[in-house]
Formats: sequence, structure tokens, C-alpha cells
Amino acid sequence: MKILVVGGAGYIGSHMVKMLIDSGHDAITFDNLSSGYQDAVLGGEFILGDLADIAAIDMALTKYQPDAVMHFASYIQVGESVKHPDKYYLNNFTNTMNLLNSMIRCDVKNFIFSSTAAVFGEPVYIPIDEAHPRIPLNPYGRSKWMVEEVLLDYERAYGLQSICLRYFNAAGADPSGLLGERHYPETHLIPLVLQAISGRKKDITVFGRNYDTPDGTCIRDYIHIVDLCSAHLLALNKLLKDKQSMRFNLGNGAGFSVQEVISVAEQVTKKKVTVIEGPKREGDPARLVADASLAKQYLAWSPKYVDLETIMTHAWQWELKQINT
Ligand code: UDP
Repeated sequence: MKILVVGGAGYIGSHMVKMLIDSGHDAITFDNLSSGYQDAVLGGEFILGDLADIAAIDMALTKYQPDAVMHFASYIQVGESVKHPDKYYLNNFTNTMNLLNSMIRCDVKNFIFSSTAAVFGEPVYIPIDEAHPRIPLNPYGRSKWMVEEVLLDYERAYGLQSICLRYFNAAGADPSGLLGERHYPETHLIPLVLQAISGRKKDITVFGRNYDTPDGTCIRDYIHIVDLCSAHLLALNKLLKDKQSMRFNLGNGAGFSVQEVISVAEQVTKKKVTVIEGPKREGDPARLVADASLAKQYLAWSPKYVDLETIMTHAWQWELKQINT
């Protein structure tokens, strides 16, 4: 299969490109390198392009005529989205519309979309399944939710089929050590804890200790990046075979607190980290845990790296590589 991977130079996109190529597919990366790295694209053709540039998207789709498009290119910081909603609606929504409209023009009708647990907002119940109400709390979550809604209209009107995958907390790194997480600024807990352990940062701040959880820190569902990508591959196959639009929540179904993450990081690295107590981060729900049984049943998805130790071990291997190069 030939897949156009938009945002293929980013954290999740680059792992996806590697998996597509390792599985014998043809992956073409389309990325503006605003936060990705061309050296993270480990194969296939690379197009330096921006989704604001409609002619560039048309050109890529016309030239390659892919069987499907996977779309990973978006801004991801919740706090920033609250301060600068214009940036998020422009890139995550308007630019995605450019891509979808181009797909219709070029007759490319299969779409895999990176969505997020942030479409659900404050959980009404845990674990969160696909039927959970979608009431996003911030422009980031809303920009993704808006795309999900538009996709339903586009299917009805233009026959564009899509699978939306709502990620909980993507984490870890490719076990080969060739790829990992490189965000600037880094805001995610696991890489920040490991940077504080490796010495790239001085300490780690815990954002709040009086949540209604057993140890008072927030609980999240960390899913290994390779498992996340394997769900995309299965979703792609299913979409091309069944031609049926679906939405899936992707997580481990197990929650770990911020304190547990820090303890596992210390255990895996055999080093201590300096912990600072900080205030709660705005908009952080106490618990976010996925019910991913639909993806397991319907896609026959079976995550391989479910324990936090393995996720941490792979992330640590990547962090060691960053400090040694
Ligand atoms: N967190 C923290 N300190 C940090 C970064 C994150 O305590 O420096 C907490 C954050 O409040 C949340 C959890 O770690 O409860 C995971 O945050 P992250 O930003 O990694 O992912 P999110 O859940 O926001 O997508």
C-alpha cells in the first residue's frame, strides 16, 4: 500500500513511517518540519510541505495517488491552545480542512486521523469508552473534535471514509533505539522525568498532590508508541477492507499516577530524581483511563508493551542516546 503520512517527521508520525516501511508498505512523508526532524524519517520519500499550502497538498496527492492518508501534523499543547486558540484552530482545524478538501479533489478517500482523549473533557466515568460524552475543555481538544464531526459530514457527502484514533498518553520509544520523543519545549511527564534523571534538567515538578486519587497525583493511561502505531496499521487495513468509518480509544486501560511514573523511572534507571512540588496545572482531570476494548475486538489489536517498566526502559534508552550524541 502507498500511504501519505502527514506529520511523518514528528514523534508519532516517524514511528508510524518506520512501521509502515518495516511492514512492506510505501510511506511518503509530508511535513513542514515545524516540530519534526527529517532525520527521524527512516525511509520513503520526504516532501517538505505545509498544510496551509493547498497547491503543495494537491501536488503531493496527484503525484503519489496514495491509497490512504494518515494525518499526524498538529499542535499538541493544551495550555498553549488556551492562550492562543487562533494558532490551534488554524493549524489543527483549517489546515486539516485543506487536506481533506484536497483529498476529495484528488479522489483519495481513506483517512486515518490522530485524535485525542482531550475530546472527552472531564470524565463522567472511568474507563472512558467511545460512547463517553465529548465535551472538550480546551481549544486543542475542540479542534480535534471539530475535525471528527466534519469527517462524518464528509463521509455522507463525498464518501470519504475515516478512522479516528483517540490517543491517551503516547509514551516510550522504538525498541531499536533509532527513534524517540524530541519535543521542544518538552511538556510530557515521562521524558521530563528522564531528563531530570540524566541531568539535562535539574528536577521534575509534580503538578498537584491533592487530587482525588490514592496518592493524590493525577492518573494517566500511558500507551507505548509502537502499540499505538500497530493500532494505526490495523485500522488502515480494516478501513481499506471494510470501508467503514469508526472511532477508537487507544490506551492501555491501566492508569498510573504521576508519583508511580516517577518511582518506576527511578527503579528502571537506578537513579534518584529531585522532585519539586508545584501547583495544579490548569485543566488537568484527576484521572484519564481508556477503555480500549473496542479496538481490541474490532481491530484484533493486542498491545505488546503494556507495562510501564518496558515503556520507561525504551524511553530511557532513547534519553541516554540524546545525552551521548
Ligand atoms: N505532569 C507533572 N509534571 C510535569 C509534566 C506533567 O506533574 O512536568 C503531570 C500532568 O499534570 C499530568 C501527567 O503528568 O497529570 C501527564 O502529563 P503529560 O503532559 O505528560 O500528558 P497529558 O496527560 O497532559 O496529555
